Formats: sequence, structure tokens, C-alpha cells
Amino acid sequence: MSEVEAIDSEYVGYVSDALPTDPIEDKSVTLIESVTQSIFHIIDWVYPINPVTGSRNLWYLPKFVEKFMGKTMYASMCYSQGGSINHFYSRRVHQIAANLAQHTKRDLPYEVTVLNNNVVNAWCLPGGKVAVYRGILEKIDFYVNHKRELGLHGYTDPSTGNFVRYSNIRVDDVIAALLGHEMTHADARHSARSLELSFLVQATVWIVDLLTGQQLNSWEADLRARKLTDDHDFEELAEESSKLKLWKAVHSIFFAWVTPLAMQLYFLMGSRSHELEADKYGTQLAIRAGYNPAGALFLQEILKQESESLYDFMPKLFRDIHKLFHSHPPCDIRQQEIYPVVRDWRQISYSPYSYIKEPLANLTMVASYNLIL
Ligand SMILES: [Zn+2]
Repeated sequence: MSEVEAIDSEYVGYVSDALPTDPIEDKSVTLIESVTQSIFHIIDWVYPINPVTGSRNLWYLPKFVEKFMGKTMYASMCYSQGGSINHFYSRRVHQIAANLAQHTKRDLPYEVTVLNNNVVNAWCLPGGKVAVYRGILEKIDFYVNHKRELGLHGYTDPSTGNFVRYSNIRVDDVIAALLGHEMTHADARHSARSLELSFLVQATVWIVDLLTGQQLNSWEADLRARKLTDDHDFEELAEESSKLKLWKAVHSIFFAWVTPLAMQLYFLMGSRSHELEADKYGTQLAIRAGYNPAGALFLQEILKQESESLYDFMPKLFRDIHKLFHSHPPCDIRQQEIYPVVRDWRQISYSPYSYIKEPLANLTMVASYNLIL
């Protein structure tokens, strides 16, 4: 190699090593990428996708807080509402809850207690602590075993006229619908979500109340100081004083009445939407655990009949007011939320071709396999 060639080759090497392709642009791209990724991480952390509903929710209370809240309240609530009972259905309730727990989206320490109380209801605390009253189990038993005499033949979808028959519903299907609904409240974090939102709203309201109150107080102090001066305009100050009085009245009415009422209404609407969510995803949970989802439609028939019998004793006006402020939506609305889940399940499992679908699919597969060969 000549000296010139040697220098050339050294030069080429020097250029290619010392000047990588546009280093400034590369750095900025990496910076944008990492900033975007961090923003997405923060969104995912504070506002993640709910595993049950698939939609994003506020989420800042950790799971251990949910579990702690449920655990601390559970024993006293069970005790105050009749206490645990070894009922005829207790073993079956525990078995169904265990089956459902295997198919929930979050790993929670689910626990169910049958309470010695004839109330037709059930509840769930954060962290998966469920209680079922003896009353609702007895009603389920009665209505399922007497459905024909009671004229409960099936559900007709009001929009399509499609009919879902109740004839093959078992007690287990209705208990699974009840437990599926309650366990979904914990699985979808309904209480935790309400608490998180309520803390946030209350803190915001408290800060706004404090700041505006301070503004009004300093305005009042300023007005008093100006009244003490010799050269004050009496009429101007009197007008300002009446303005201040008006603002103070607006402030106290807004924070003492309007805000709590608005919050109550907002949380009532939230509670109703949570109930519909628990109906829909609870029915899906019952399907995953192998139960007939029509049990959820039937459960609403029981609640409908029972609430109507409760309303029999109430005057009409009181009945309407009670319905207006009830935390649960009317049973008809709940059935309309459940029906699409039942319809989709029936399309898969009860289609007229279901008996021949699988062998037919196998046959087609074998035929096409032979054709390809
Ligand atoms: Zn509920």
C-alpha cells in the first residue's frame, strides 16, 4: 500500500467513526418517545383499564386498602344484620361462590356469609366480602319451584319480541346470578371507585369553599377598615355592604345545600350505573362458571314481585318518591341490560345447528384437508 492510499483509508475510517448519522435528530426522537411513554405510564397508573368493564377508570386506592376496608367492616356488619346461619342452602351458596371466584377478573379473597335475616337482598363490601340474606334464598327457592303456578313462563324482550323460557332454570342458576352480581361489585371496584371519586370531589369542594370564604372574609375586613376612615363615602359603602351580604348568602346556600344535593344526585346516578354494570358483567361471570344466564332475568322477576308487594302498603305519592330516589334502577331496565348477554349466549349454545355444528365443522375441515392433499 502506498502512503497516499494509507492516508485515504485512514481518512475514510476517521469520517465514518467520528460522524454518526445525524446524532441530534436521534436524541430528540428518543426524548419524545420516552416522554410519550412516561405520559402513557402515568395515565395507565392513575386511569387504567378496568379488567371487568374494559373502560378506563380512576384508580388510586391500592388493592390492600380495598381488602382492609372489607375485612374490618365485614364481621360487624354481618353481626348487626342477623349473624351467620347454617342454612339449608349455605353449602350450595359457598360452592357456587367458589365456582364463580375462579372466573373473576381480579384475584380477591372472596367470602360469602348467609345471614339470618328475612330481608330479600344481598350486599358486597370492597375486597370481595359478600353477604346473602336468608330471605332472598327462601324467595329464590319458592319462586323457582313454583314458577309455573306463579305464571312465570319466560321473558319477552320488548324491542324484538324474542322469548327466553324459564322452564329449565334451576335454583343454582338464580343463586349464581345473585352472587355473580355481588361479586362483580368487588371485581369491578364499584365501592372503591365511588370512594375515590367522593374523596376527590369533597376535597375539591372543600378547597373551593375555603378559598372563596377567605376572599369574602378579606372583603368584609377591608369594608370595615374603610368604614372607620373619616373620608368614607357612606352611600357607596352601604351599597358594597349589601353586595357582600348577597355574596355571603349565595356562598352559604351553594356550599351548605346545592353542592351536597348535587353530589347526592350524582352518586345516586353513579350507583344506578354500577348496578347495571354488575347485572351485565355478573351475568357474564355466571356464564363463564357454567350457569344458565336466564337465572339473572328470573332473579329480576323475583325482585319485581317482591318490591311490588312492598309497594302495596305505600300511598302512590310515597311509592313514586321512593322509586325516584332508589339506588337500584327498576327491574325492567335491569332485565333489558341482562337480556343481550343471554341472547348472545343462546346464539352460541342454543342455535338450531348447535347439535350438528361441531361435527359439520369437523367434516368440512376433513374435506378441505383432503382437497388440499
Ligand atoms: Zn348491586
